Amino acid sequence: MMPVPEPRLEHLYQEVILDHNKSPRNFKEIPDATQYSHGVNPLCGDDYHLYLKIDGEGKVQDVGFKGSGCAISKASASIMTTLIRGKSVQQVEEFKESFLELMTQENVPEAVKFQVGRMMIFEGVKEFPVRVKCATLIWHALADALKDSYKSSF
Ligand code: ZN
Repeated sequence: MMPVPEPRLEHLYQEVILDHNKSPRNFKEIPDATQYSHGVNPLCGDDYHLYLKIDGEGKVQDVGFKGSGCAISKASASIMTTLIRGKSVQQVEEFKESFLELMTQENVPEAVKFQVGRMMIFEGVKEFPVRVKCATLIWHALADALKDSYKSSF
């Protein structure tokens, strides 16, 4: 497979992405996770396991991920984990929808961009269509994990 070059993003955004790539947040397995999913992007070789612990009130009590992949996929996963902790499943679903809309649609409304918040740094990745899957991989894994039936016995 041909190596895909890392996109040249705006400097500030690139620094944030490289920082999360170097020191990913919540890079851990959660043994008592209630939701789990495995996401793979064969185009790039990104491969992550995602763990969520949803409490009895439907809030994300803990979230973690393990695996390997390019800087964009790892930073997207790392930042995602920092943003969804403490949120309700409903809020997480809305957040995921907004981010996927930003990454896959043209002329995204300002309200959606506002909701996407810090994840806006990935907007520049849209100029590199092959890398969009890197940025969205963990969010598709998140969708799968939320569909996973609650395994714990509250
Ligand atoms: Zn990738």
